[in-house]
Amino acid sequence: MTATAIERTEHAHATDASGGSAIGIEDLTVRYGPVVALEGLSLDVARGETVALLGPSGSGKSTALKAVAGFLRPEAGRITLAGRDVTYDPPNRRGIGVVVQNYALFPHMRVAANVAFGLKARRVPRAEVARRVTEALDMVGMANYAKRYPRELSGGQQQRVAIARALAIRPPVLLLDEPLSALDATLRSDLLGELQRLRADLPDVAIMYVTHDQTEALALADRIAVMRDARLVDLDATDRLYRRPPSEFTASFLGAANLLPADVLATCAAEDASVRVAVGGLTVAADPTRAFTEGQRAMLVARPHTLGVAAVDHPNALPARLIATQWRGADYRLTCTLEGAVEQDIRIDVTDVAAVPALGERLGVTLPSTPCVLVPVTAGATA
Ligand code: ADP
Repeated sequence: MTATAIERTEHAHATDASGGSAIGIEDLTVRYGPVVALEGLSLDVARGETVALLGPSGSGKSTALKAVAGFLRPEAGRITLAGRDVTYDPPNRRGIGVVVQNYALFPHMRVAANVAFGLKARRVPRAEVARRVTEALDMVGMANYAKRYPRELSGGQQQRVAIARALAIRPPVLLLDEPLSALDATLRSDLLGELQRLRADLPDVAIMYVTHDQTEALALADRIAVMRDARLVDLDATDRLYRRPPSEFTASFLGAANLLPADVLATCAAEDASVRVAVGGLTVAADPTRAFTEGQRAMLVARPHTLGVAAVDHPNALPARLIATQWRGADYRLTCTLEGAVEQDIRIDVTDVAAVPALGERLGVTLPSTPCVLVPVTAGATA
């Protein structure tokens, strides 16, 4: 791929004169008959920004993407592209590049013809079509495959061609709907790397990336919008959302955090660096994501790799019993049941085999030395 392969000039319209968003979604609601698939979604994507819509299956991610692409009509709300209202425009009048999970290449057309398709539909002159097809295939490392048919390509290569097809029209907005989920683990990882490089090659393009996979969201997105049950739960810069998740749901969905019930021991403000909480039989410092009052029940966010294993009678450890061990190559995931007032399972990742106790053995679970994030309790919030 070459950084200069796609000319930037055509992206100038990605922002309107007032410097507004490349994609604007305002209070969008979509229904399929009785099913509310999306409720009141508001979200902006700036020019050059990648926003991942992350959430479990059925949370409304694809529906949001389809509404932006123009594949469905919302019941309420507005969609703008560079400030222009396109809510009821057909897809071909939006100038958006779209890549879906199953490639959707035309099987009877060679790679070059697939990539040229959108350009011909736009009546781009022949010589220009040829140039842009080569450019786009170059960007995804597929220039040598122009004469092949899709059936002569691997899944990963087909998806690269689908991406080249979307890029050939030089869209200011690119929508990607689970583009890696049909691929096996190795191809998925390769293409994720390609997408990261491509991202750097397209500094002006606004990208909306739908995925249920936190790895992809963390690797690619500037911001992540966490979706659940047709609604936006949390939206923030990727690193902030991971480091200081504001809700139980986001903590457990993004980073598989353990949530430990904790009692707040002193009233605190969101800006406070720490607050004392009681968890199990321990008193520890926690990092509040919002204001809490003394005596309030909250949840301590403890990621598996930050927890440690100690002797069961260790003074700063929560007593537990090991009920399962899973070797994962790079580490062992231990599942333990905490003993005490509230019995709950807790996951710990350890890299040292010597730290793995025997199944059924009692152990102490140590919390990290830096304060864990503290989030409010939400009914039924766990992912
Ligand atoms: P996600 O992309 O997060 O998996 P979707 O946006 O595909 O979720 O779906 C959101 C909700 O809308 C789900 O409950 C799903 O079953 C429903 N849904 C999606 N497409 C249709 C459709 N064509 N007809 C009826 N219900 C649909």
